[in-house]
Amino acid sequence: MTEASAVGTPEHPALLLDKYDGGAWKLWESLAEGRPELGRPSAFCGQVSRSKWVSFTGTCHRPDFFELIRDLTGNVPGEGGLVTFADSAWLMSIVLPHQPHFIDQPKDVDVFWGYGLSVERTGDFVSKPMEQCGGDEILQELLGHLGAGHLDDKRLGKITVIPGMMPFITSQFLCREKGDRPDVVPDGWQNLGLLGQFVELPDDVVFTVEYSVRSAQAAVARLLRLRSEPPPRVQGSAPTKHAV
Ligand SMILES: Cc1cc2nc3c(=O)[nH]c(=O)nc-3n(C[C@H](O)[C@H](O)[C@H](O)COP(=O)(O)OP(=O)(O)OC[C@H]3O[C@@H](n4cnc5c(N)ncnc54)[C@H](O)[C@@H]3O)c2cc1C
Repeated sequence: MTEASAVGTPEHPALLLDKYDGGAWKLWESLAEGRPELGRPSAFCGQVSRSKWVSFTGTCHRPDFFELIRDLTGNVPGEGGLVTFADSAWLMSIVLPHQPHFIDQPKDVDVFWGYGLSVERTGDFVSKPMEQCGGDEILQELLGHLGAGHLDDKRLGKITVIPGMMPFITSQFLCREKGDRPDVVPDGWQNLGLLGQFVELPDDVVFTVEYSVRSAQAAVARLLRLRSEPPPRVQGSAPTKHAV
């Protein structure tokens, strides 16, 4: 899902790379050539405009930005979960984790993460698609949605935003047919277990760490003919919507 990802700068957008800029799709394509039981990678790597997002990190050198979010949401960093700007053109979200997030993170530095799902649309406060924006422009759009577009570096301190383009990040969610994803132990194989986001686990939810873990558990159980199966999935109830 992070294959061919690229990082930009505050001034420059992250480049949109190609599937052949990394080895993962090439590997699956060569394995699956002439072996239909190994799935069809083209179902997942052939529609980049539907599978890409821009992710970004923010580094703050003063507490003002975190205080602004705390005052708007009433949440202490690390307790609030994802904040989604549901009506934003880029469908942006941010997350303010508990600080420090990194080992050895300096005391006077706070870090946050965010992303936009509709990266080809023109922003509401920046008249460009998100995928063409450097970090400073992404910050400008974010501050606009927070009603803080008037706050400058003097009020907020310098916030360094670095964008990352991930061409295949939601490729697992693209429409697919039976057979596009191989089974954990493909038909006719006895010494090969496949794991990760693109194998077939009926009724399970892709994008999650749990999906990959369960695929590995299933592969080990089947190859070693163990009685155990992966733990059952937790069936959630109705979705909850949090929006600013
Ligand atoms: C921005 C972002 C946010 C996310 N948020 C969440 C979340 O909130 N909750 C959640 O459950 N999931 C989340 N995910 C998804 C989660 O990270 C993935 O589903 C999970 O990491 C997939 O695990 P994996 O082991 O299948 O693959 P990976 O974690 O990608 O591991 C594959 C490993 O293989 C290595 N590798 C690749 N090629 C080779 C090679 N040729 N030889 C040797 N090693 C190789 C890679 O370096 C990597 O370490 C998020 C992902 C991203 C990108």
